[in-house]
Amino acid sequence: MFISAKQAQLFEEASKHIPGGVNSPVRAFKGVGGTPVFIKRAKGAYLWDEDDNQYIDYVGSWGPMILGHSHPDIVKAVQAAAEDGLSYGAPTVAETSLADVICDILPAVDLIRMTNSGTEATMTAIRLARGYTRRDQIIKFEGCYHGHSDSLLVKAGSGLLTFGEPTSKGVPEDFAKHTIVLPYNDIDALKECFAKFGSQIAGVIVEPVAGNMNLVKPKDGFLQAIRALCDEYQSVFIIDEVMTGFRVALGGAHTLYDVKPDLVTLGKIIGAGLPVGAFGGKREIMQCIAPLGGVYQAGTLSGNPLAMRAGLEMFKHIRQDGFYEKLEAQLAKLLAGLEQAANDAGIAFKTQQVGGMFGLYFTDQDDISSFDSMLKCDVDAFKQFFHGMLRRGVYFAPSAFEAAFISSAHSDRDIEKTIQAAKETFAEMKA
Ligand SMILES: *Cc1c(COP(=O)(O)O)cnc(C)c1O
Repeated sequence: MFISAKQAQLFEEASKHIPGGVNSPVRAFKGVGGTPVFIKRAKGAYLWDEDDNQYIDYVGSWGPMILGHSHPDIVKAVQAAAEDGLSYGAPTVAETSLADVICDILPAVDLIRMTNSGTEATMTAIRLARGYTRRDQIIKFEGCYHGHSDSLLVKAGSGLLTFGEPTSKGVPEDFAKHTIVLPYNDIDALKECFAKFGSQIAGVIVEPVAGNMNLVKPKDGFLQAIRALCDEYQSVFIIDEVMTGFRVALGGAHTLYDVKPDLVTLGKIIGAGLPVGAFGGKREIMQCIAPLGGVYQAGTLSGNPLAMRAGLEMFKHIRQDGFYEKLEAQLAKLLAGLEQAANDAGIAFKTQQVGGMFGLYFTDQDDISSFDSMLKCDVDAFKQFFHGMLRRGVYFAPSAFEAAFISSAHSDRDIEKTIQAAKETFAEMKA
């Protein structure tokens, strides 16, 4: 692995006053070794680091940059918004417009509230489910990440996995005991759990395509089984689309897999790269939120005008005919090329795609539909791949337990370059 003198120095300076030199642990290179690359700027499909090296980017700020970086229309919208003032702490028309757009695209959402992050959205959705049902227990699935609130940091996927601790320290046992963790894609375990505790379960929260333990697709009937059990036991079904919303399809994963949630959480893409989150859903449940109801939630900067106007501009682009078809086709080309290259090199390697997100697996397992199967993938092979690609100007997430993302700015030439870099990296790994 190569670390330039400048990058090493930047990391040392960052680490002086910032824990681990990063403001979110997944940015540290703990999962792959080395130190993080400091980024100076980004445009389209590319990042440039502080040494002016260019990278083709498959992280996309962990999902939001579906149009590529610094899209001129988004930049213009943000500039115009900034001219009009950065925040007022009072309602704006842009908030109404963005709420209208999202409710128009997602029929499951009658009412929606904006937050500053996905974490706030999921945290509040859980509180809302508890307030609405007057029950305490929630079910989440192993390897699913729903942000870093206490109730949800139990066996929570990538960030924690990379650091070798399934559950965060500092979450009181009294909190954690209200979070039941079940295996993803295991319908029998879910039925059993509801049979035992059904009347105490406030809600179930799930990543409809798990993207925080690499990528795991929902098995046929898994999401439908959650729906049916939530109906039977009057529990609230929360689909966490912070990552998948407007990423796997315009209507998100719940539309793709044809299942109706009671509450949906959103983030990432809806702010086009500005800090944002949202939760919404059935009117009857959403009416329990303050000021209409007794479940409290608030935010000084919620519905921030920059984020709202960036988001509105984002939707203009992703609502255009053929946007997702093109994105999907481009990604399919990339994945076919990577698989071919691995196959030619004799490396056990698989890929999976849902819309504009994908997973890479160094494994010869046939079944890659569970958390356990993710743990069996070859992490050392991934580390070699990661550093080989990085050196050749391709930027993947620095962990074997993350999904990857493509943007509409990735050209044929970018795909070809990525495949060529993979050919060289696979050859190096084999040697
Ligand atoms: C990123 C993510 C979150 C948390 O969102 P933040 O904006 O990072 O707080 C929640 N749920 C899922 C599925 C995510 O991918």
